Amino acid sequence: MRISFDLDDTLICYHDGARHDPNRVWRLLRGWLHEPLRSGAGALLRELGRDHELWVYTTSYRDPRTVWWWLRCYGVRLGYVVNQYRHERTFGRRGPSKCPAQFGIHLHIDDSWGVWEENR
Ligand SMILES: [Mg+2]
Repeated sequence: MRISFDLDDTLICYHDGARHDPNRVWRLLRGWLHEPLRSGAGALLRELGRDHELWVYTTSYRDPRTVWWWLRCYGVRLGYVVNQYRHERTFGRRGPSKCPAQFGIHLHIDDSWGVWEENR
């Protein structure tokens, strides 16, 4: 099964009181990869990655290679990263905010109710 995760407020949380996994980013990469991973997310993704293909689907413009290497430092191997540029290549700028099914994603994990409304 192909499972995708949102980044902001799903895997990456900056709000007050948010707890994070210990930083596992390799020392040489810390200048580029400095975002905090939500507490417990690393273990969850590693476990899911044993049986499922993991993707990231984000409305941000983060570089897919940066996201891939960031999670690689936590022992997670992503299949693909859909960022806003890649999303717009498929849907243009007036399409839905996200459409996981169009990318063959079976399950998408996201904090946004808007994404749920658009895709139910
Ligand atoms: Mg979000």
